[in-house]
Amino acid sequence: MTAPSLTSDSLGWRFDHSSARLPAPLFRKVAPTPVREPQMVIFNGPLATHLGLDAGLSDRPDLLSGNALPSNAEPIAQAYAGHQYAHFTMLGDGRAILLGEQITPEGLRFDVQLKGPGLTPFSRRGDGRAALGPMLREYIISEAMHALGIPTTRSLAVVATGETVYRQEPLPGAVLTRIAASHLRVGTFEWAAARGEMELLRALTDYTLKRHFAERASTDNPALALLEAVVERQASLIARWIHVGFIHGVMNTDNMALSGETIDYGPCAFMDAFDPETVFSSIDQHGRYAYGQQPHIAQWNLARFAEALLPLLDEDEQRSIEIANDAVRAFQPQFQEHWLAGMRSKLGLFNAEPEDTALMQGLLEWMRATSADYTLTFRRLSTESLAEEPLASGPEFQSWHQGWTARRGRQPQTLSESAALMRRSNPAVIPRNHQVEAALQAASERSDLAPLHRLLEALAKPFDDSPAHLDYAQPPAHHDGSYRTFCGT
Ligand code: AMP
Ligand code: MG
Repeated sequence: MTAPSLTSDSLGWRFDHSSARLPAPLFRKVAPTPVREPQMVIFNGPLATHLGLDAGLSDRPDLLSGNALPSNAEPIAQAYAGHQYAHFTMLGDGRAILLGEQITPEGLRFDVQLKGPGLTPFSRRGDGRAALGPMLREYIISEAMHALGIPTTRSLAVVATGETVYRQEPLPGAVLTRIAASHLRVGTFEWAAARGEMELLRALTDYTLKRHFAERASTDNPALALLEAVVERQASLIARWIHVGFIHGVMNTDNMALSGETIDYGPCAFMDAFDPETVFSSIDQHGRYAYGQQPHIAQWNLARFAEALLPLLDEDEQRSIEIANDAVRAFQPQFQEHWLAGMRSKLGLFNAEPEDTALMQGLLEWMRATSADYTLTFRRLSTESLAEEPLASGPEFQSWHQGWTARRGRQPQTLSESAALMRRSNPAVIPRNHQVEAALQAASERSDLAPLHRLLEALAKPFDDSPAHLDYAQPPAHHDGSYRTFCGT
């Protein structure tokens, strides 16, 4: 998409509104509902700069709560559907409003969306609002993912509303400003397909290709080009989640962004002790979205995306199905390749050997049997400190360690080059559940933001062994298998 010529207002807003030029049923115009007493809780200065926004915006909670709008905003709520726990529903932005697409000084385009701005035509039975704790949680984890180098939506600010929202209990309300490459989801296409309007599907396909995959836009089969591109981005994204122990928690098709960014931080969490069956979400009773299920679920979601595109893939229905199947099947080998490449880096390996998968499986099996901490195991391997620990004294680990040492010895790079690769591939600091909870509690219950800022500082440099942040590199005191997360609605 080419950047339009825009004028900038005094705070640097340079909005375009390509989403509002899509066919009308895909969005509704709706203004945010003002809140009683907007107060800035946290503002992301570096992100504002990247977006070309003025630092003075940090003193304008009215603009980041919906009480006032940038002069060139055109607020809309977007339509989408979704398979939630495999059940299809027509949804839409029930508690989110897009203000516009900020064109950055580098010419990049980002959606600026308020999350929790009040009722929209898609609110159904909800109140359109959000609570402070979950919005700060999204801020923390999305910014941590960004620092880890994982594609993600980002958080520009959280503004407290001075109002109470009622969930199981009364909670302080807040609005998050979410920055995203776009909010196009698998569910956006499901919504268009469910209405059976080919023109909508066609318009969406062209738009998405141009916005996210411009290099593939000149093709005689745009739907296939889009499907293949989205499959590739997801294969890479999910591998990255797996590498850092991230569990999204609610991989419904409406929460899968076509841009390949991680989106919708609800019940997500990072795994401590390694176990592929790890689930934190209180409502995921059957482990549909467990850590180790994520590649499988991503592929399931991509099959729903392919289904939505079927009418465009080929005039012949049978042929469409074959094309779709082939494209979706490509996910598995692509994922495997990304997984393997990332695991090689995590183990300090520069080249490939046929036995590498077995080497990795050997380590993972040992970690599972001993409930070893996922992040710390790799970090301590990087610093050569794991082999001295009591946990690692058994024959299984020692024999694995010998095999690994021999493997590292067979590559041309030195051990110190290998260790350096490991240190930049294995974070020391991740948003540990107990640390995140402590920071959120201090912020929500005592209005004490110091722990939040300290945590964010540590998470901004996840590959550093900073003495000031040693406590954030520690796992919980006892194995935290009972930790539960909530959807944050
Ligand atoms: P989520 O769990 O955030 O992915 O949301 C799933 C769907 O429920 C989306 O359509 C949301 O817009 C809608 N939703 C979630 N919370 C609320 C709320 N408080 N008010 C209105 N709609 C909501
Ligand atoms: Mg969602």
